[in-house]
Amino acid sequence: MNDYIGYCGLDCEACEARIATVNDDDSMRTEVAKKWSALNGVTITPEMINCSGCRIPGPKTPFCDKICDIRQCAMAKECETCGSCAEMMTCGKLGAIIKNNEEALHNLKK
Ligand code: SF4
Ligand code: SF4
Repeated sequence: MNDYIGYCGLDCEACEARIATVNDDDSMRTEVAKKWSALNGVTITPEMINCSGCRIPGPKTPFCDKICDIRQCAMAKECETCGSCAEMMTCGKLGAIIKNNEEALHNLKK
């Protein structure tokens, strides 16, 4: 599995937080923090926009690090990704992602 594919199948290379981190781009961090704060109804600061990728060693956003149930579950089960979990097609946690994102499911089935 490509290391840039998150446990849930989303592509971390396309994530604006990772792009801002890789380019050390503070103005992008500010824009992403503003956008994600509005989208999620919580305060996200530019300092939180630091992430190497879901399955890649390095910094994580607070959401990726501690809040995402999918990442915590897959790590606890020692699954490379949800694609190697027997519950993939019935899991409610993962279902929240793959029901609206065919690409994520496709990535997990590769
Ligand atoms: S942190 Fe969660 S939602 Fe984000 S890529 Fe990883 S598993 Fe998916
Ligand atoms: S139970 Fe769900 S979230 Fe946990 S590893 Fe399996 S598919 Fe992923």
